[in-house]
Amino acid sequence: MRTVFGVLGNPIEHSMSPAMHNAAFRELGMECVYHAFRVDTGSLEDAILGAEALGFGGLNITVPLKQEALNIVDADPLASSIGAVNTIDLNNGIHGYNTDGIGAQRALADAGVDIDGQRVLIVGAGGAARAIGFQFHDQGAEVMIVNRTEQRAVELASAIGVRGFGMERLEELIGQADVLINATSAGMYPKTSDSIARREQMHPDLTVFDIVYNPMNTQLLIEAEAAGAIGINGVMMLVYQGAEAFRIWTGVEPPINVMKNAVMEALRS
Ligand code: NAP
Repeated sequence: MRTVFGVLGNPIEHSMSPAMHNAAFRELGMECVYHAFRVDTGSLEDAILGAEALGFGGLNITVPLKQEALNIVDADPLASSIGAVNTIDLNNGIHGYNTDGIGAQRALADAGVDIDGQRVLIVGAGGAARAIGFQFHDQGAEVMIVNRTEQRAVELASAIGVRGFGMERLEELIGQADVLINATSAGMYPKTSDSIARREQMHPDLTVFDIVYNPMNTQLLIEAEAAGAIGINGVMMLVYQGAEAFRIWTGVEPPINVMKNAVMEALRS
């Protein structure tokens, strides 16, 4: 079995992935290591081919390289639709996947939310929103997209085959939604007082899923609690997208709780 894995991106110093995967390898007694590598745009192809030549088992790809990676790998249909790759399997060729959407779906399932048939309002039109939008639509959710830059919402929605809107429709659409997902960077450290929605705009039957994980309890989740809505933070999406990559590379069932604890510990330090 191949024993070296890594994540490529820039910046990369604060990535949770090494702590999460190395904890999983240790728990399972697998003699594997996972490192973070800073790679600049334009050097990605050399880095991926180099990793393949060196016998790496697999890679994660993060900001700002996920779109560029698509042109380098043999991508599966979901990653091709999303237009971004976050996982590369090097065991037999250079195969690309995107596990962000399945990570989000499993995080909601963990909290008891089956997205099939649910009205899901996604705020954002960047990489994460794309991954969640395609995955959730594919899994039977009724997806709506809202974004600060309306044009990007409309473009993403049309690529998925759903409806996209500007932020001025947010309150009305929250009123119609079962699940509200923040797939923007609003509320992320250091601008922790930002929130895409206020408590008066929410209702008690709403599930609010904030994919931001730093801080774990975002202002949006504070607003959700005050409105009597269910709140879910971004930690389990991070864990499940990593767990899915782990499964793709190794064929081994990942130890979810160990990975979760490693992420929580890294976030607290
Ligand atoms: P991205 O591609 O840069 O997209 C950013 C999105 O956020 C855009 O839609 C942008 O709107 C919107 N935005 C930024 N600041 C905003 C503000 N103040 N108010 C309203 N909208 C704002 O980023 P990404 O890769 O999709 O990541 C988005 C967030 O998700 C990040 O915080 C990231 O850490 C998090 N994330 C979490 C996980 C996880 O596993 N939990 C996985 C992936 C990403 P415009 O189009 O108008 O610029």
